[in-house]
Amino acid sequence: MSYTGKVLRVNLDTGDVTKEPLNQDWAEKYFGGRGLGVKYLYEELKGGIAPLTPANKLILTTGPFTGTVVPCSGRLTFAAKSPATGTMLDCSIGGRFATQLKFAGYDVLIIEGQAENPACLVINDDKVEIRDATYLWGKGIFETESQLGEELGRESGILSIGPAGEKLVSIACIGSEYYRQAARGGIGAVMGSKKLKAIVCSGSKDVTVPDMPGLLKLVKRLIWEDVLTDTNLGIYTDGSPQIVDMSNSAGVLPTRNFQDGVFEGASKINAESIRRLKPRKKACPACPLGCGNYIRIGDNAVEGPEYETLALVGSNCGVDDIEAIIKFNAECDDVGIDTISVGNVVGFAMEMTERGIKDFGIRFGDIETYLKMPRLIGCQEGMGEELSRG
Ligand code: SF4
Repeated sequence: MSYTGKVLRVNLDTGDVTKEPLNQDWAEKYFGGRGLGVKYLYEELKGGIAPLTPANKLILTTGPFTGTVVPCSGRLTFAAKSPATGTMLDCSIGGRFATQLKFAGYDVLIIEGQAENPACLVINDDKVEIRDATYLWGKGIFETESQLGEELGRESGILSIGPAGEKLVSIACIGSEYYRQAARGGIGAVMGSKKLKAIVCSGSKDVTVPDMPGLLKLVKRLIWEDVLTDTNLGIYTDGSPQIVDMSNSAGVLPTRNFQDGVFEGASKINAESIRRLKPRKKACPACPLGCGNYIRIGDNAVEGPEYETLALVGSNCGVDDIEAIIKFNAECDDVGIDTISVGNVVGFAMEMTERGIKDFGIRFGDIETYLKMPRLIGCQEGMGEELSRG
């Protein structure tokens, strides 16, 4: 395993930065970033605290093989108490951040308290600074990331929140590399409650493993016997959109707020319709599968849309226009909200309106109003104020 043996702890109330040993016992017993993050959270969080207060913690963990060539090992996990559910949440994100954190010399980053003014945490190996980020507050994730990349280096790992996280929307996400999101459970609102606009990390240290020849032998076997298999071929060629057809033929594709499981427009939002847009393949570090599809249409670019977005933002809202789904997806990524949760909320508002229970002014398949929803919800404007509560 490639543990560095170090935890970085940052307290935004006091500005204290401490480095402490990793609890090796927990790392072995609660194997993987998710297990380790949830264990730290369980042990450190006081019972009964409100999720959007300084008492909550934002815990970022890497995996036991992050920074090595082990397939799919480059993801970063977040743990916190969720403002959406009031219980533990964990979610993960791809991209460079996890490997940069490991290269900087840390397995785990724990963020406590609340900054007085909007802040940006900058980690560069042993140098850790809390900088003022007032000039970035209010900006979308795309602009924030561009600006920080220009100032601190485009090869850094950058995590940031958009207006939704700042406004503590309970379905806000954290974005990275423009099109990747740690999305579930309102993790972006937890970061916003700490007044933490962004975290930037770059590392230059080596990651070591005790038996490199043994690891390489194992990786070779893993790649050919467990990762690049016939079963995974669909993920390799098309990514998760291949699941649209499977779900539709099994009668479980969320359709019009889950009123149905079969969508008549499924063939317009499936893997084949994505293929027609000629996506470029993208992968997390050390992943031979590369399930990501990078698509640009006019001003809108996404990495995806993933199956969950196609299903919740597409069929669940009665929308079979793939370009509209991509636009909606890109808006969510910039404003910083989770496409799965937003698709659920918008589908619910559509059904409420159609049944005459409450008029949200939006109906299934009404693309013009639908495309306004990410900003309205993420910025809590108009009818989006109520819907932003999830
Ligand atoms: S590229 Fe896809 S399969 Fe590979 S680690 Fe990233 S999310 Fe997982």
